[in-house]
Amino acid sequence: MTKILYTDKLDNCVERWRSAGLSVIGPVRNANITAYRPVGSAADLELSQILPDRSIKELFFPQTEPMMRYSIKKDAINTEECLPPVGPRIIFGARPCDASGLAIDDPLFGWDYKDEYWFNRRNETVIVSIACTKSDEFCMCTSLKLSPDSTKGSDVLLRPLESGKGWQVEELTDRGREAFKAIAELLTEGAEAAAPTAVVAEKFDADACSEWLRNPENFESRFWKEISVRCIGCGSCTYLCPTCHCFDIQDEGDTFTGIRRKNWDSCSFALFTMHTSGHNPRSTQSARWRQRIMHKFNYFPGKFSANSCSGCGRCTRQCPVDMGITETLQEISKLSQ
Ligand code: SF4
Ligand code: SF4
Repeated sequence: MTKILYTDKLDNCVERWRSAGLSVIGPVRNANITAYRPVGSAADLELSQILPDRSIKELFFPQTEPMMRYSIKKDAINTEECLPPVGPRIIFGARPCDASGLAIDDPLFGWDYKDEYWFNRRNETVIVSIACTKSDEFCMCTSLKLSPDSTKGSDVLLRPLESGKGWQVEELTDRGREAFKAIAELLTEGAEAAAPTAVVAEKFDADACSEWLRNPENFESRFWKEISVRCIGCGSCTYLCPTCHCFDIQDEGDTFTGIRRKNWDSCSFALFTMHTSGHNPRSTQSARWRQRIMHKFNYFPGKFSANSCSGCGRCTRQCPVDMGITETLQEISKLSQ
C-alpha cells in the first residue's frame, strides 16, 4: 500500500499548509510565463507544463537582493545588514531537474563560506517534486545521470497516478514527513498504479565530454569559435539555468546613503571579466562560451564531483538563436570518440 494524494484534496492541502504557517509556492502562469510563485489555492497551480519557464533558483538566489544599507555622516558611518526574509514555505510541484539543481549548488554555496542568504532559505523550504510523465526534445536529465523521477534535492516525490487523479506520495526527508503530517488526514492508503515516467533519450556522453574538456590541447581548439559563432551574449541561458550561480555586488546610491546589492551576473556578458584597465581576458563570445562549458563540465565537477547541470534543457529551449549547451556537448561527444 502506498500513500495517495488525490487531486481533489489539493485545495484542502494548500489551506492546511497555510494554516500551519507555511507559505505555499508552485508553478503559476502569468503573462505567458510560468514561474514558481506564491499560491492562494490549488487553482493557481499550472502543473501540466513540462517544466516552468523560469527555474526554481530565484526562490533561493533572487535576481537582485539587498545585503546592506549604509549611510555616511560627517562623524559616523552606519551600516545595517539585510538578511533574507525568513519563514517556512513549501514548494509544491517542482520538477526533479529543478530540485536537483539546488542540491548541485549546495556545496558551492557552502564551500569556503556558508552563504546564509542561500542556506537560510534552503533550511526553511520543503520541496515537493512531481515526477515527469512528459518530456520534450530539449530535456536531457538522463545524460546527466539523473532521471524524470530523480529524488535528488526533493523532500517529497509525487508520482502521477495512471488514472490522472492524483499522485503516489514518497516522503524522502524528515522535513518532508513533517510537512505531510499536516495533511495526513487528506491522504489515502491505496494500491493505484503510477503512470510511466517520461522517456528521455541520452543525448551525449557527459563523462567523455569532461575528459575532452580536461585535455589542455582542446582549450584553443577552433571548435569553440565554430560552435558559438551565433551566440549574441544575451545571458538568457545563464539566467534561466537552475544551477548558474554567478553574481556581482554593487553599491547603489550616492556618496551619503545607499544599498549594497547582490545581483545575478553572467559569464556570457562581455563586461563579466572586463578589467578597469580596459583589458578583457575573455574578449570574444567564443571564449565566454568555452568558459561556460568548461565551468559546468570540467572545473565544477573537478571541485564538487558533479556536473553543474541538471539537464532541464532551458538553455536550449529558450535560446533566441537556437543554441544552448546540448549541441555543444553532442559535438564534443563526437570529437572525443
Ligand atoms: S547561448 Fe543563446 S541564450 Fe546563451 S547567451 Fe548565447 S544567445 Fe543568449
Ligand atoms: S546548463 Fe542548460 S540544461 Fe543544464 S541545468 Fe542549466 S539551463 Fe538546464
